[in-house]
Amino acid sequence: MEQVEEGVEKGRKSSADLPPGQRTRQAFQHSVDNIHVRGGIHCGPKDPEPHFTLMKRRYFIGAGCAASLLATGCDFSLRDGVFNACRTDLPADLRDHPLVLSAWRGLDPAKVWDTHCHVFGDGDSGSGLWYNPRLDQVWRPTGYVQKGFYVNASCVDERPGNVDRSFVERLLAQCRDMAPGFHALLFAFDWARDDAGAPMPERSTFHVPDDYVAGLAKKYPAHLVWAASIHPYDPRALDRLDAAAGSGARAVKWIPSAQNIDPADPRCDRFYARLAALKLPLITHAGDERAVHGFGEHLGNPLRLRRPLDAGVKVVVAHCASLGDGHDTDKGGAALVSNFDLFARLMDEPNYRSNLVGDIAAITQGNRMGVVGTLLERRDWHARLLNASDYPLPGVVPLIYLKSLFDQKLLDPAALEVLRRLRDINVLLFDFVLKRSLALDGRGFSASVFETSPFFKRPS
Ligand SMILES: [Zn+2]
Repeated sequence: MEQVEEGVEKGRKSSADLPPGQRTRQAFQHSVDNIHVRGGIHCGPKDPEPHFTLMKRRYFIGAGCAASLLATGCDFSLRDGVFNACRTDLPADLRDHPLVLSAWRGLDPAKVWDTHCHVFGDGDSGSGLWYNPRLDQVWRPTGYVQKGFYVNASCVDERPGNVDRSFVERLLAQCRDMAPGFHALLFAFDWARDDAGAPMPERSTFHVPDDYVAGLAKKYPAHLVWAASIHPYDPRALDRLDAAAGSGARAVKWIPSAQNIDPADPRCDRFYARLAALKLPLITHAGDERAVHGFGEHLGNPLRLRRPLDAGVKVVVAHCASLGDGHDTDKGGAALVSNFDLFARLMDEPNYRSNLVGDIAAITQGNRMGVVGTLLERRDWHARLLNASDYPLPGVVPLIYLKSLFDQKLLDPAALEVLRRLRDINVLLFDFVLKRSLALDGRGFSASVFETSPFFKRPS
């Protein structure tokens, strides 16, 4: 029988005294105190605490259960613990650990970019960062718990005035502990927009302005590069695209189901033509998107990306579409096929060999890891795969249950303890070392999967 490792914290401190990432941890501890783990998830009440009303308690219990559901397909696991401990300072024994050293061996760190990193904050620095206030409503437990886990994974200091700053400081500290030359590709995130291109904040989950992320990349060029997020229905989309390219954007990022974008809509054609002319890659989420909710998972069907592909756009399919099923619109649309198989179909089409790639962000999550074996096996794809973490998600401890990667013979058990320690200190390094350590029958991902920067090189 395995228990939640973190256990109940006796004598909680007042939240103002808590270090970054821990205020949420305290709040959420209430919810997970009610989750009993016996090789899986069961939700039910434990010893009630007097200062929690029954009503509130139910919400938190619901929140805990919702967290397990939202993450999942019931692959959300508490067996590695619940919260990221948000430790600082990489100790020498980890920095010089043979597993970490061998992860860097054979790679040119200057070419190693983590090509899928998110930024968020509450705008308390005047950044324009925004998230939907509904994420702060405990009676909407899914978003509430989700946000709590993201805050914890990125070790944000939630005291007013510290949120934006602490997110960036933590990210930079992690970049500094990577080999010199490493860069994180940070994503802006446009509003969900209506069919006329007007922002719909009430239906958006979060917003990250292009200018903010461009500014970070300009301020920290040794560690950060950036991708714009431009909704193709925005009447100013083409001007924004030109401006982003002029400001050094390396790509454009979309999550179609969250932003109300149909990649197969002819309205996107002018945008595609400009992207192709600028040679700016489009990184677009495909497969189900369970982290950010919105306008229907059908928008993430990989087959909808035929349109930009046929227009000559360089398309990066985020997560290799590794979640959910899509209608097989190539064959009338009646049959449901796994999105990953639809992605595989596109990858195997000779026409798309030069402009379709996949990123391997988040593939080690419990609900996605079924594709890891195939991706390792398909060595003919490796030149078209990009390593990426989906930062800060790998810092959400229950999302990646390391032992099941070992159970599937994809990870050496000797790596488990080192990886667990890395996750609490440096999520970027954790994800990188984990991906470098994955192997099937002794063969891991090719070096090219990690040397990603050439793909984003801009024409001079
Ligand atoms: Zn992502």
